[in-house]
Amino acid sequence: MPDVFPPDVFPKDTIRCDACPVLCYIKRGQTGACDRYANFDGQLVRVDPHVLLDQAKSSGQPLVPFLEREADWDGTLVKSKETFVTAIGAGTTYPDYKPAPFIVSSEVDGVDMVTVVTEGIFSYCGVKLKIDTDRHLGPERNLVRAQGEPVGHVTTAEYGSQMLSLGGVHHLTGGTKSEGRVTCETLLDLCNGKELELTIDEGASIRVAAGKPPVVNGQREERMRVGCGSATIGMFAKQWFGKVDDVVVVDDHITGILSEHQAGKLLGVRETGIAIQGRRSTPGRYFQVANPGTGWGGTDISDPLTILKPFKSKFAWPGLRLLMVSTTGEQYAYFELDETLRPIEKNLPRELQTSVERIRENCEPALTTVLFMGGAGGSLRAGVTENPVKLTNSVKRSLTRVTSGGAPVYIWPGGGITFMVDVSRMPENAFGYVPTPALVAPIEFTLKASDYAALGGHTDHVRPLEEVFREKERRRQITSAPQSPNSPKTQTNSGGRE
Ligand code: SF4
Repeated sequence: MPDVFPPDVFPKDTIRCDACPVLCYIKRGQTGACDRYANFDGQLVRVDPHVLLDQAKSSGQPLVPFLEREADWDGTLVKSKETFVTAIGAGTTYPDYKPAPFIVSSEVDGVDMVTVVTEGIFSYCGVKLKIDTDRHLGPERNLVRAQGEPVGHVTTAEYGSQMLSLGGVHHLTGGTKSEGRVTCETLLDLCNGKELELTIDEGASIRVAAGKPPVVNGQREERMRVGCGSATIGMFAKQWFGKVDDVVVVDDHITGILSEHQAGKLLGVRETGIAIQGRRSTPGRYFQVANPGTGWGGTDISDPLTILKPFKSKFAWPGLRLLMVSTTGEQYAYFELDETLRPIEKNLPRELQTSVERIRENCEPALTTVLFMGGAGGSLRAGVTENPVKLTNSVKRSLTRVTSGGAPVYIWPGGGITFMVDVSRMPENAFGYVPTPALVAPIEFTLKASDYAALGGHTDHVRPLEEVFREKERRRQITSAPQSPNSPKTQTNSGGRE
């Protein structure tokens, strides 16, 4: 962040950026503290291009104009009616009682619509990381660190995934200056798809990036589990029946045993006298067979026999065949009982190989998902309407559609406009920051023109889409995630001069 001197120490054409509370003085040819704004020939300009999304491309229509449309093709790759104005590169107005940078009118299926776009400055924001792995990353509530600074914590695990909650106003503003800076940097990198390293107190060291497999303690995660141990027994019981006498699916959460499980009972699997560590939940389902870790099925074991107790001689028999397998099928071992009822490891019989491969085949690729979560309930709304609560009400009543960089968002129930968006559905580098510190994220509100007027919108600042589209300065094309409703394979960017 540059020093802010009295204006008289700067050359004449130094300008002051008023797009955020930092209020940088920017000399000619230089950028402000966030690198988003620059002094270009004495004019304040938004450095990144303003992204317009071409909806025609997302709906699978031809990318190249032809037939009757070819004649009036003017060289641009989008037509205004097919274009959605995102907030990426649109800039910010501060303080927010000023209208948002772009309030654009367009016609959709004969209905006059308005889209209000702004790059919101979010002090109240964070990311939720879903990391598809069974491996134990660290105890719930333990701190997650980046560059040694606390940036979040481990939160409730989900089915086949470990969850981290990063950022939030307490890490951004409530700790040391360094904690706030590193938290902001971490959120920015994750939201913009970069890979970074995180460490968890009393836990693992991980490398994560949106849409990529996580790396846990240096090991790239290939698959997420097919299900918990009990579910795996249910799924594959029929395929094991007759080929093996008992199966244990090792899982840190619920380890399953075929002969005791309801699936085994229904098939008529004989009792085997198997006994296992841990706490029995229901027949064939055991909790806490070992400690959490990065070994078999998210436990800390590398030798599966350590979770077995001696077989009960009343039921077991020499030659009893036992398969032990993890929930991803990555680890497996086959045993037969000797005369003293001790399990002896043998090669996996061919007829069981298919079932182990089937477990692996049913495991989906392990990925890291990054959801940005931010609250637009504050003054940002005043850039949309003079009566901010009306915007909230309109969003709650689904009269106003909220998107982030053209991607769909989930709006939390209750007060304010607190939303979540999958960053991998947004165009690249959609996020920025300001050194307050806070994250800058695109947000768009689209509603009927009549509804916009009714909620006290800044109607005198509405500009036709065609007018925005004609501003070709610094326009270029980029490719973005094709799955978003408003994010096509091709986008056109227009200059973002303020
Ligand atoms: S940090 Fe960026 S947005 Fe804020 S005043 Fe400086 S240049 Fe402008």
